[in-house]
Amino acid sequence: MTINQGLYPWFNQAWSEINLGNMPHATIIHGQTGIGKFDFALHLAKALLCESPESNQELKKPCCQCEACHWFDTGNHPDFLGIVPEDQATLLPHFAMEGADGSEDKPRKSKKKADDETDKADKKLSSFIKVDQVREALEGINTAPHRGRQRVVLLNPIETLQAVSANTLLKTLEEPPESTLFILVSDRLDRVLPTIRSRCRLLAFPRPQTDEALNWLKQELMNAGVKVDLPTIELKLSQSGGAVLDARDELLGSGEEGNTVALDLLLQSLSNGEQINWLSTAESIFKAPMSDLLVTFERWVADLLSIQQTGQIRFYLTKKNDLERCAKTARPNKLADFWRVLLDARRVELHALATRVQIESLLIRYQEIYKD
Ligand SMILES: [Zn+2]
Repeated sequence: MTINQGLYPWFNQAWSEINLGNMPHATIIHGQTGIGKFDFALHLAKALLCESPESNQELKKPCCQCEACHWFDTGNHPDFLGIVPEDQATLLPHFAMEGADGSEDKPRKSKKKADDETDKADKKLSSFIKVDQVREALEGINTAPHRGRQRVVLLNPIETLQAVSANTLLKTLEEPPESTLFILVSDRLDRVLPTIRSRCRLLAFPRPQTDEALNWLKQELMNAGVKVDLPTIELKLSQSGGAVLDARDELLGSGEEGNTVALDLLLQSLSNGEQINWLSTAESIFKAPMSDLLVTFERWVADLLSIQQTGQIRFYLTKKNDLERCAKTARPNKLADFWRVLLDARRVELHALATRVQIESLLIRYQEIYKD
């Protein structure tokens, strides 16, 4: 299940201090880079928008079952506004669905299409939040939330706001719109305007203790089936200066072995059919080259199609039982549709925007082929 998305053990204390029912209108989550603050912020946003009352008030976490949670995961929640620099756009849930064909209402995705299309290919993505992004996002904010509850605006990292945007944000915070919560994330609080800081509740996020970080890294590597000796893990952790997520990514991405492991893991996950845990799968494999992942994905789906149509397996003969089981429950028309989605993904992949969310999106679609 996806219950603990975004929650790392070193944030347990911080999480326990959050009161979902009584949030200040603006919060700054700050701490060093690479420890998972952004994931935490997403988790918090999702919990705030979750519409399952028990999970919200008592368990204090998103239920991951209700319509709102589903919309959040697929990037379609109308009351969630995520504002990040272009080079981090792939971290947002709504980015994932853009390439896929779910073309429903996405009012907030209108950002300067024409420009984007012409220069996306050769222009380096911005690592700053742009003025337009903030202006556009804050423009519609005085209307009532679509779902009638509250709207959540997530900005990360706020120290990359240019002066004009910082002032726009400041004005908004001075007269906060009703039912709107701001979750602001910062790696460098000292670079945030004092006037903004003073209007927010500040939550300092700790980096994990070394032991905690090491244990977590060992577990992550084990889950991904990657073998790395302890001294190497310790070295990477200390080289990362405590940025434990960066250390994890490096360790997982390092070496050929990681790659083969990722492909095996993908196959293993696909064989779970409807029970696939798309979140943890994507998490474990997204460092592998997207082209390799797509080839594996395509072969698996080609085998499923082939079994349904002719009873034959072309690629993964050693996975005969799993394939046959999956082919039995996959809905033929959905499987055929999904095949086309995969082919489209191959074209998108040339844009080099292969990412965790893109993989998540594909895995979610894959899970759908087992459902009516
Ligand atoms: Zn929910």
